[in-house]
Amino acid sequence: MSFTDLGLKPELLRAVAEKGYDTPSPIQREAIPAVLSGRDVLANAQTGTGKTAAFVLPILQKLGAPQPGAPRVLVLTPTRELAAQVAASARDYGRFVSQLRTVVIFGGVSEKPQIEALRQGCDIVVATPGRLLDLAQQRQLDLRGISCLVLDEADRMLDMGFIHAIRQILKLLPAARQNLMFSATYSDDIRALANRMLHEPVSIQVAPRNATAERIDQKVYKVAKEHKRHLLAHLINEGQWSQVLVFTRTKHGANRLTQQLEGAGIRAAAIHGNKSQAARVRALEDFKAGRITALVATEVAARGLDIKELPYVVNYELPNVPEDYVHRIGRTARAGGSGNAVALVSQDEASLLRDIEKLVKMSLPVAPAPAFAVPPPAPAGSESTREHTHGNGHRPSPRPQGSWQPRRHGGGRAPGARSQGGGSYARGARRSG
Ligand code: AMP
Repeated sequence: MSFTDLGLKPELLRAVAEKGYDTPSPIQREAIPAVLSGRDVLANAQTGTGKTAAFVLPILQKLGAPQPGAPRVLVLTPTRELAAQVAASARDYGRFVSQLRTVVIFGGVSEKPQIEALRQGCDIVVATPGRLLDLAQQRQLDLRGISCLVLDEADRMLDMGFIHAIRQILKLLPAARQNLMFSATYSDDIRALANRMLHEPVSIQVAPRNATAERIDQKVYKVAKEHKRHLLAHLINEGQWSQVLVFTRTKHGANRLTQQLEGAGIRAAAIHGNKSQAARVRALEDFKAGRITALVATEVAARGLDIKELPYVVNYELPNVPEDYVHRIGRTARAGGSGNAVALVSQDEASLLRDIEKLVKMSLPVAPAPAFAVPPPAPAGSESTREHTHGNGHRPSPRPQGSWQPRRHGGGRAPGARSQGGGSYARGARRSG
C-alpha cells in the first residue's frame, strides 16, 4: 500500500514524498481513512509509530482552505516539546497546502506572544491543557469553532494530572465534533475518558513496540546503585558512543548524573520540567548537533522528543511503570533502523525488571558488566569525581554473569462528541448536538 491509496490530496502526497516516506506505517494505514471519513478514533500507538502524521495529514486535508479566525482544530499534548513537534509537523506536512495557520500554546513561558498569535487568527491550535484552559478562561481564545479534537498521548496527560483541565476544556467545545484519541496504554481512566468523549470510535491497535523490538539490541547490566555512574561513563567512553539518551527517575537525579558524567569528561546536559524552555531547546539542539554526547532526561521531559537515528538509549534507573521501558527503548531503532538499549539494574530494581519482562514476554539478556574503574570515595564534603588509581592494579577474575558487583580494576583512569460524518472542518459545516 502506498500513501496514494489513502485518499490524500496531491499537495499532501508531495510533502510526504519530500519527507522520504514511501509506505504508510500501520497506524497511518488505518487512521488516515478513518479520520477522513469523519469517524472518531481511539488508537493505541506510541511515539515512533508515525502517529503524528496519522492524524495531521487527514486533518490538513479536511481543513481545506485557511479560515483564520477562531481555530477549527485543537490538539492537546502532555508536554511543550510534543506540542512544538506536532505544530512543526502540521507546518511541515502542510507546506504545499494553502496557508493554514497553526498556533502553539504551552505553559512556562510568557502568555503575551501566544495571545498575540491567537489574535491574528489560526486554523489549528496545538496546546498543553493547563495554559490552554487559562487562555480560554481569560477569553483570549474562542473554542466554539472546534470541529476536531485530538488528545495526543492521552495516558501521559492523565499521568500528569491534566484530567481536570481536559474536562473543563471539553465543556467549552461544541458537542458536534470529531474526536481522536491516541494513547500508548489503556488504563481504566483512559477507558473512562474514551467512553465519555468518543462516539462509536474506530479502534486501532498497532503492534506494540515489544513486537518489533527485535531491531533493538537490549542488554541488562546488573550493577550496584553507587557504581552505575562509573559503569555508564565507562560504556560511553570505551564504546565511543557519540549520542546517548539516558533516563533517570527524578529531575534531581538527572542533574546529578549530568554533573558526574561531565566530571568523567563526557559532554552532557539534563532536560527536565524544571529547566526553562530555552534551556531545554538548547540542550536538544546541542544533542542533535553532536555538541553534547549524553542527554539525561526524565520520562516526562523526553516525551515527544524526536531525535532521528538515536543509537543508544540507557535506562539508568528502571521506570516504575513497565510500559515506560518499552517507550524509552523505542527512542532508538526508529523508522526501520536498529539501535541499542542498555539498562543498568541495581538489586532493589529486581522486581521492576521482572515486571518489564512480564510485559515484553521475554527475559532481557543480562550481560556481564565490563571491568570499570571505581574511584575511592571522595573526601567528606567533596564532589570530586576524579579517578584514582585503585587497589593494586590487578584485574580480579570476572564475576559470574548477573552479579550486581562491579568488576573493579585498579590502575588507571577509565577513559574519559459526535462525529460529523465525512466532510471538512470548514466553519459552519457542523451539525449541532
Ligand atoms: P511519530 O510516531 O509521529 O513520533 O513519528 C516517528 C518518526 O517516524 C518521525 O521522525 C517521523 O518523521 C517518521 N515517520 C512518520 N511516518 C513515516 C513513514 N510513513 N515512513 C517513514 N518514517 C515515518
